[in-house]
Amino acid sequence: MTTPRIEQQEVTATHCPYCALQCGMNLVRQSAAVTVAPRNFPTNRGGLCQKGWTAAELLSSPERLTSPMLRDFRTGKLRPTSWGEALRRITAEFRRAQVRYGRDAVGVFGGGGLTNEKAYLLGKFARVALRTRNIDYNGRFCMSSAAAAGLKAFGIDRGLPFPLEDIPHAEVILLVGGNVAETMPPIMQYFDEQRRRGGHLIVADPRITQTARGSSLHLQLTPGSDAALANGLLHIVTAQGLLDAEFIAERTSGYEEVRRIAASYWPERVERLTGVPVSQLYEAANLIRRAQSAMILTARGPEQQSRSVENVLAFINLALALGKAGKPYCGYGCLTGQGNGQGGREHGQKSDQLPGYRRIDNPADRTYIGQIWGVAPETLPDAGQPAYELLDTIGSEGGVRALLVMGSNIVVSAPNAGRVQERLGTLDFLAVADFFLSETAKLADVVLPSTQWAEEEGTMTNLEGRVLLRHRAVEPPPGVRSDLEILAGLAELRGYRFPSEPRAVFDELRRASSGGAADYSGITYERIEAESGVFWPCSGEKDPGTPRMFLDRFATPDGRAQFHPVEYRPPAEEPDDDYPLYLTTGRVMAHYQSGTQTRRVVALRNAQPEPFVEIHPAAARSFGIAENETVRLTTRRGSAMMKARLSTAIRMDTVFAPFHWGDAARVNLLTNPALDPVSKMPEFKVCAVRIEKVDKGRSAIAAASAIAGS
Ligand code: SF4
Repeated sequence: MTTPRIEQQEVTATHCPYCALQCGMNLVRQSAAVTVAPRNFPTNRGGLCQKGWTAAELLSSPERLTSPMLRDFRTGKLRPTSWGEALRRITAEFRRAQVRYGRDAVGVFGGGGLTNEKAYLLGKFARVALRTRNIDYNGRFCMSSAAAAGLKAFGIDRGLPFPLEDIPHAEVILLVGGNVAETMPPIMQYFDEQRRRGGHLIVADPRITQTARGSSLHLQLTPGSDAALANGLLHIVTAQGLLDAEFIAERTSGYEEVRRIAASYWPERVERLTGVPVSQLYEAANLIRRAQSAMILTARGPEQQSRSVENVLAFINLALALGKAGKPYCGYGCLTGQGNGQGGREHGQKSDQLPGYRRIDNPADRTYIGQIWGVAPETLPDAGQPAYELLDTIGSEGGVRALLVMGSNIVVSAPNAGRVQERLGTLDFLAVADFFLSETAKLADVVLPSTQWAEEEGTMTNLEGRVLLRHRAVEPPPGVRSDLEILAGLAELRGYRFPSEPRAVFDELRRASSGGAADYSGITYERIEAESGVFWPCSGEKDPGTPRMFLDRFATPDGRAQFHPVEYRPPAEEPDDDYPLYLTTGRVMAHYQSGTQTRRVVALRNAQPEPFVEIHPAAARSFGIAENETVRLTTRRGSAMMKARLSTAIRMDTVFAPFHWGDAARVNLLTNPALDPVSKMPEFKVCAVRIEKVDKGRSAIAAASAIAGS
């Protein structure tokens, strides 16, 4: 009798591939099977959402790209090719574009999900190997407004200036425009604990979201009215003389002008602007001002608008006026969305930035980074165009003619996506590195298959500013290379030697960030492992890192937080006779970003198989729309098709649609690229829309495909 052989299990501690919570998880490998098991990491304390639990399925997906592909001149189709031919073709095309149109004719587009090492090397590749100024990334579409506001008010941009473990100790939390109960469910354990301790959660959102349902008070504001809400709350506490005068005098500057502006936001006016009843404005203001400790958190709701830097600054003004910043269990924070939304914006893939949050227009910063990179500072290009402008000017005079996209599916995720797709069509050459044939990769001339998160090592910086380490748990399929290897290979063909091992890249990043605002110089892979992550800034191996910021001083030159006067301004587009409703967009629990990954996971696809638009039953009646009917949404930029989902959880003047689907169901065919003047954030969260029903009974995807094919 033979004894059955028990295959040994290998367990690798790592992190989820998706959102900014970066939940700790174990990957268990037995034979060829890889499964997810819980891991008690300080952020998620063992919890995972459905996306995390099912993440390993993608490692063996049959749709995985395993060979470089090249568009065949004769057939017009992508065909497998060798790495040598693919990299040589990219190099030749980039050279051709630069000879013909100048260095800036080559563009690089990165992503907020790339590891710190990749974001760093991508920036170095653009500035040193290509010497183009045109590099930006999809994080511009996520957190750039909160980042700009944080820099203005506090002198530094770190999403949360405190660890998650502080949340339960805040007596009151005002959460504006974030549905964390759906987008990152494990974080709710902190909010639940806060409520159990007797704390209050106030949620401001145009929808009665799952997060709003669990709140003490829900302010169902009109889309785009966030600054009016913040000013209105400030008006009430100012009029009642409930400010923290000592804090304002000792730790801030610029309050007087803000007070003058707030005086004109009397509650009745704010009720008209926001739709939030006067009684609720008083209730919210009283809850916050009575609390010893309070936090104000924003997410994409107020941050993805054409006045979003001002929206965020208005809420920061409120926190500062009440003295609820720079103290334990107090402060303003942004809940970052993408997996490396924080680290991805610190190390050089942003158009105006060098590693360590250094500025590309600062001579001292250019000199320092020039030394690290071994190039003369004057050879470093100037600031390039922010993401939407980079894409919008493709193919035009002075615009990009050849583009490398790494870790981003811009055809689905960029605003005014029809225009972006049309611009991509005018490129002389497009190269895309991805692990699936995303909607953007389908348009490419060369596609490079890259490794997934569990097949490589690298660091991520989560929404707390905690630097984490992802481990390699499985071998990548043959034929696949890491993004670092791809960049090093392309650099070599241009005569540069770049490191391609994650540790070597991280060591260079540490040196490059030393002395910068986002200083990682004291962080090592070993410390991250031993200390369950290290919070930046961390300027030496003996520096314990900085979980809590601003307790003694803010990071401005004089150590004071800065008030900024903000007037409410309406969104760039408001409903009218032709487009009578507001459209707002967002995420659902089962999917992540453009859906390139989550739409390929069976359980997630089953949980949310189709795009939909949420509409109030009263509004649906007036447009003759029934539950589950396929409808066409139309804005001044285009149309998209999806099923109607009737719900009393949304305002009657607003419809909501998630943005996880491609082709003609793309919600970003509709969104408005009106940009914030400071951050260049597009107005994803508010535009005017028309809704009408299409064929009864037809599936949204089928109808959408029909439109796409016509
Ligand atoms: S998607 Fe976010 S919340 Fe869900 S398991 Fe992954 S990191 Fe955690």
